Amino acid sequence: MDRNIYAYVCRRCGASHYPFRMVCKECKQNDFFEFDTVPLPRTGSLVTWTRVHNLPAQYEVATLGIGIVELENGMRMLGQLEIDEPEIGMAVVGEVDVVRREPYDSYYGMVFRAA
Ligand SMILES: [Zn+2]
Repeated sequence: MDRNIYAYVCRRCGASHYPFRMVCKECKQNDFFEFDTVPLPRTGSLVTWTRVHNLPAQYEVATLGIGIVELENGMRMLGQLEIDEPEIGMAVVGEVDVVRREPYDSYYGMVFRAA
């Protein structure tokens, strides 16, 4: 299955939002949540990152990279990094993948890897 993370495009003015907002940030007129969903691009550049060392037990890894990526359309997204040596400004490509597993559930989010 091909999974996507979506931007919400205002039907009145065309402004894109991610994550979802109740009211359009541009025209502020969207009382009825009139948004179209379009998949976010998966390529971009790494704006900043950090590595978390003290994770809850359900993460079956010792450390976890987290980064903010500026996508090719200018929107920014938080995601996990599967990159050994991240560098600010590097090109990355994302995929919707499992970010956390529990005995009966898997949680999905964007995972970025070096492009
Ligand atoms: Zn709008």
